[in-house]
Amino acid sequence: MSNEERQQNEPVIRLGISTCLLGERVRYDGAHKLDRFLVQTLGRYVEWVPVCPEVEMGLPVPRESMRLEGDPADPRLVASRSSTDHTEAMKAWAQCRVDELAGVGLHGFVLKKDSPSSGLFRVKVYNEHGMAERNGMGMFPRALKERFPLLPMEEEGRLNDMPLRENFIERVFAYQRWTQMLDEEPTPGGLVPAPRHVRPHPGPGAQEPHVILAGLLPVHRPAQGDGAQGLPRVRHRRGRVPPEQVLRAHNPGPGGHQEGARR
Ligand code: SF4
Repeated sequence: MSNEERQQNEPVIRLGISTCLLGERVRYDGAHKLDRFLVQTLGRYVEWVPVCPEVEMGLPVPRESMRLEGDPADPRLVASRSSTDHTEAMKAWAQCRVDELAGVGLHGFVLKKDSPSSGLFRVKVYNEHGMAERNGMGMFPRALKERFPLLPMEEEGRLNDMPLRENFIERVFAYQRWTQMLDEEPTPGGLVPAPRHVRPHPGPGAQEPHVILAGLLPVHRPAQGDGAQGLPRVRHRRGRVPPEQVLRAHNPGPGGHQEGARR
């Protein structure tokens, strides 16, 4: 098999992303929040599926800013100045959108931090006295988590932290393999690829997706080296991933999402 044919057969890593992180001017003030690492580095190896909840539910650009109010476990989405309540409209849109995304085959999602619509962790929720606590989750990630409880999700800001970046990429890769195995013929052996020495060599220039993604983890790369020297950690792991590790990657336990996962 030629390198070109091999690349065509390689699975696509498909990630959802908050649209403004791609540099699209969809924010309430008409601005964007371009994230250069996501677009210029990670974006070379993954296919993005952009989602902007506020624009896709029909709000204009520019528009009033929003905030979460009330019960942090079930907050309302309210326009900050006019107090227009968008909660039900957002919930209805989010249900339709996550159903649609089920057919897309996502392997992860990168979300805009602090946003009442898109933020995943510690989003401000205002109480009846107008005081805010950082203990909420945006409306769209809440619907995403309900629909895809195992889907790896992260915020763009946290991906600047190398252990969190590594954790996210490993979870994306585990999830891609997991879903691919389920799409094919699920077997216990499908979770454990053949050891490196019995697998066919991919050929000069060809790189498997996990090796490419591992290259985005400079924290493990020796200062003087590049290429293969910086990659064995993830590559090595892939060669002997036990099913429990894959399950742990998907099921962080009673703490829910792996927000605090660090090594
Ligand atoms: S944070 Fe979310 S809702 Fe706000 S502009 Fe970005 S994608 Fe749209």
